[in-house]
Amino acid sequence: MNPPFIPQRAMVIMAHPDDPEFFCGGLVALWAKNGTEIEYLLLTNGNKGSDDPDMTPDRLKAIRQQEQRAAADVLGVGNITFFDEPDGELTPSPALREQVVRQLRRFRPDAVISPDPTTFFWHNRINHTDHRAAGQIAADALFPAVGNRMYHPKLLAEGLEPHTVPHIFVAGTVQPDFFVDITDVFETKLEAILQHTSQIPDTEGLAERLKQWHTATDEYGRTVLREAYRHLQIG
Ligand SMILES: [Zn+2]
Repeated sequence: MNPPFIPQRAMVIMAHPDDPEFFCGGLVALWAKNGTEIEYLLLTNGNKGSDDPDMTPDRLKAIRQQEQRAAADVLGVGNITFFDEPDGELTPSPALREQVVRQLRRFRPDAVISPDPTTFFWHNRINHTDHRAAGQIAADALFPAVGNRMYHPKLLAEGLEPHTVPHIFVAGTVQPDFFVDITDVFETKLEAILQHTSQIPDTEGLAERLKQWHTATDEYGRTVLREAYRHLQIG
């Protein structure tokens, strides 16, 4: 079966608009095609993602929200929750964790995709500080806070009961153990990424770069396009 696991509800927790498409657009497209209800939770507003001297942080934030909505529509993702943390300054804190727990207890997903907080270096690059911070905030929310009554009692008063998310798919990891063949949805992933016009200076070479990045040999020796995750289970 591809993908090997299909949740009923999945939440994608990432740092920036465009992260979901780059990190996990293939798996999201496959899940959506199979009827999974999917929500995005984006922790920063992405307001530093430009080198254009005429761009302002406020304008960029608005543009990136529109681009993110368009990309989510391509993949079949429903609701998007935008937090407003400044780009480049995401820092794990109990307050931010509480906000993430609130969203998890509201939506009650059975799967979450979030970045690997331990990936400091990614191939020959430095992984963005916000990706690492988002990964840690998500992990700390997923265990033990979201499933524990003692954490964030304010949420109980709001009627948000504890909830355990049984499956976590960690993206952008150097220790993958869960592989998803995205060959059938590669074009959909590419089309979704291309909605992030403000972030892609070179659309020409993008398809080729993306293809190279995803090309791998599967367990039968076939060349496939795939995404790689680390699969964690709770409960
Ligand atoms: Zn990012």
